[in-house]
Amino acid sequence: MTNNLMNNRVLVVGLARTGVSCARFLAGQGARVTITDMKSAEQLCQQMVELAGIPIVWELGRHEESSFLTSDLIVVSPGVPMEHPLLLAAHAAGREIVSEVELAYRFMTVPLVAITGTNGKTTTTTLVGEIFKVCGYRPFVGGNIGTPLVELAESTEQVDFVVAEISSFQLEWITSFRPSVAVLLNITEDHLDRYGEMAAYVAAKARIFENQTSGDFALLNVDDPLVSSFADSVKSRVFPMSQKIELAEGIFHRDGAITYRHDGREELFPTKDFRLKGAHNIENIMAALAATLLSGCDAERAGRAVSSFSGLRHRMELVRTMKGVAWYEDSKGTNVGSVVKSLESFPGNITLIAGGKDKGGSYLPLVSLVKERVGHLILIGEARERMREALGELTDSRFAATLEEAVELAHELTSPGGTVLFSPACSSFDMFRDYEERANRFIAAVQALPGDREC
Ligand code: ADP
Repeated sequence: MTNNLMNNRVLVVGLARTGVSCARFLAGQGARVTITDMKSAEQLCQQMVELAGIPIVWELGRHEESSFLTSDLIVVSPGVPMEHPLLLAAHAAGREIVSEVELAYRFMTVPLVAITGTNGKTTTTTLVGEIFKVCGYRPFVGGNIGTPLVELAESTEQVDFVVAEISSFQLEWITSFRPSVAVLLNITEDHLDRYGEMAAYVAAKARIFENQTSGDFALLNVDDPLVSSFADSVKSRVFPMSQKIELAEGIFHRDGAITYRHDGREELFPTKDFRLKGAHNIENIMAALAATLLSGCDAERAGRAVSSFSGLRHRMELVRTMKGVAWYEDSKGTNVGSVVKSLESFPGNITLIAGGKDKGGSYLPLVSLVKERVGHLILIGEARERMREALGELTDSRFAATLEEAVELAHELTSPGGTVLFSPACSSFDMFRDYEERANRFIAAVQALPGDREC
């Protein structure tokens, strides 16, 4: 594909947020755009309104094989699986297929910092953006986090860096996407409903390094065995990070400080001033500091940016303290790996409310923490049977029909000094529109409980 799309026939597959942005960008480049989606025009009317006035051929409620086989370029939204038979047929017929991030990358003129991992992506990406700003640079922060990257290509905004949160789905159909700094935070089981097996998910994540060369950096969390296993195969320069070992080159956490060492330079960041708490956030902070310092940021200003960053909503937020019980909302804890980290944040006497839409992975990594620290386990949603099978014997376990009922039950069961933690380990789509709605329902239910307010 050249960057001249004038009169090219381009098929956009999938009309969610990225599909809308891609279609608008492509049409602006003079391409002849067709959009296809299995959803009907009625279901997609909001997206269609956003594209009003732009010449587009619509193939909604169906896919036309001929469009897949004759387009010059196919742009695939992250929600469409790579093994879709029509994509495979188009690929076999020699059609060029790209993901939205690949399309955006081809029009990018500034260095790209890309962040992936099972957990911590949004926190780290946001923090990288904040550090760049405090250091006097103009970052564009987007990708999986909200604004599709292609919207930068569309705008006239002047930026110095692109900071992109990248999901495994977005890395499907890349060919030249090449971050100057690529961060892999951690890999634990997730999205097995889409990938079927862990190896496929790991391979999808590793593609973030695929096009890097020796002048680029691969930031690897070497405490995570799966992440660390890429150290020998990447072509870029490995920059390790660890909370366990001291590193001569890399970034590590020890004795209340983060130390950054690179090419003989050393910078120290005491952690006592940080507002973000928890071991998992040290991981995110180390990644953000390394990514920005390697990109030329000043250490003193970067440290200041970290100290003033208080984190994002719905990730281990204290909702209320009442009668000696602390209520935490962690609706963004949508997989087992993140719940492990959340449970590790409290010494014991935890009432865990979990469950939701099952993603097909194993709940066994929770076994030892549930046994040690969870006094009551309250399960909701589609996943509750599977979760009870894996964890039910380990502690007092109950079912609740709704989230509100789970909150009532937790209120009755949790003794003073305890913690109620809502960290579902599942996605929200069985009972809620998204994790934010789920979070707000939990917060409302907790606020509605009778009791003296302590804070
Ligand atoms: P993502 O964008 O990858 O989903 P977030 O920053 O939104 O990551 O955090 C999602 C969840 O994962 C939160 O519940 C949070 O408590 C937990 N979490 C954040 N960072 C990490 C990490 N580095 N390792 C494990 N869990 C984490």
